[in-house]
Amino acid sequence: MSAVVSLNQEKEKEVGVIGAGLVGCLTALALQKKGYKVILFELRQDPRLKSTKEKNLRSINLAISDRGIKALKYVDENLAKKVLDKVIPMRGRMIHDSKGNQESQLYGLYGESIKSIDRGYLNQELLNEIDIINKSGVGYPIEVLFGKKLINLSFLGEEENPTVTIVDQSSHQEQIFEFDFIVSADGAFSATRHYLQRYVRMTFKQEFIDTCYIELSIPAGPGNSFLIDPNHLHIWPRDKFMLIALPNQNGSFTSTFFSSWELAESLNTDTKILNFFKEHFEDGLKLIGEDNLISSFKNNPKGSLVQIHCNPYNYKGKAILIGDAAHGMVPFYGQGMNCGFESLRILLEMLEKNNFNTEKAFNQYSKERHQDLEVILKLALDNYNEMSHDVTSIVYLMRKKIDSF
Ligand code: FAD
Repeated sequence: MSAVVSLNQEKEKEVGVIGAGLVGCLTALALQKKGYKVILFELRQDPRLKSTKEKNLRSINLAISDRGIKALKYVDENLAKKVLDKVIPMRGRMIHDSKGNQESQLYGLYGESIKSIDRGYLNQELLNEIDIINKSGVGYPIEVLFGKKLINLSFLGEEENPTVTIVDQSSHQEQIFEFDFIVSADGAFSATRHYLQRYVRMTFKQEFIDTCYIELSIPAGPGNSFLIDPNHLHIWPRDKFMLIALPNQNGSFTSTFFSSWELAESLNTDTKILNFFKEHFEDGLKLIGEDNLISSFKNNPKGSLVQIHCNPYNYKGKAILIGDAAHGMVPFYGQGMNCGFESLRILLEMLEKNNFNTEKAFNQYSKERHQDLEVILKLALDNYNEMSHDVTSIVYLMRKKIDSF
């Protein structure tokens, strides 16, 4: 595996990266290391600012797996090391049945694991890495512009360079930027994708599933101890709905409840919420606590789940979609971010192979990556049935899956 080094021998090229989420930040870092001059636009404010942190008190965590770690290492071994210092390995699933029994199902025979990581920490670590690169004086600094939203994209002139209109979220002033090319990681509801469709005959499908998720939490025990085994991904599978929990460094677990929208919306009083959890997740309720459950269930947003299919992902060598913007997926395979990171690694490899000819690299990427992405989207959907139902059945024992929830 080769580390990313400055191989871009062409004239200094300016690249716009849209979206400073997990995939956008890693993309900006990787392209800077390739020798490009990068501007990164993010519609929200810097998540490291105190004011922003307070608004974002929820502690979503993610499972990072081999796919994602390999991409992090490809971009920067040291960054991968820093990230891996703050993860909790989950070596298997812990299945909680309705009687409160727990059964461990290991992911592999040799301690293979997926790793629980705080999403906010990972995003901030990627932004900190950008600051480190900028201070190092090696290569062009990455300009990060927060509070800036892409509101239009067109391709102008003979060279058809991407021209993006960006609006400042506070002053509402618009600015126009022209780039040699853009890489867009602006999430499942990508504005870039919308504008790109005026230029690309893009097949596109947005598929909502009838599942709602609500984030809950299991507090730490005395002295920041874990109340259940920290080295498992805990699942309470109940066929049509389920609860999961992933460990955090401070002894707590972030837990997520998944169900149909109808069920989630029918649990609209304290009594209904409590009775439902008493009936189906008695041991889970004891861990979460009654007051905590009611307040989280009522106050935390109810999230929808969507799958994004599109093809091709690029417009010539001028613009390409990556991450959830290109292949948003339901979270049941734990691969949305991992797959976004992998897409970046593959794109970088194709740029190298094509001597940084973006048109050839982007076309090759769209052609060769599509089928794999469609497979992983299908696996993500299939894994909901596996997690909510099959893990409790004998069928599961006949199969073995590593690198997934
Ligand atoms: P996003 O994280 O959506 O980032 C997009 C960024 O673009 C945002 O910062 C946004 O503010 C910005 N933006 C949007 N529009 C504009 C605009 N017009 N102009 C400028 N900026 C813009 N994945 C895993 O790998 N493992 C897991 O365990 C896992 N668990 C999950 C659990 C849940 C409940 C959910 C919902 C998802 C989970 N995922 C998981 C998926 C993962 O969260 C996503 O795949 C990942 O966050 C995608 O990263 P991204 O950078 O492509 O998009």
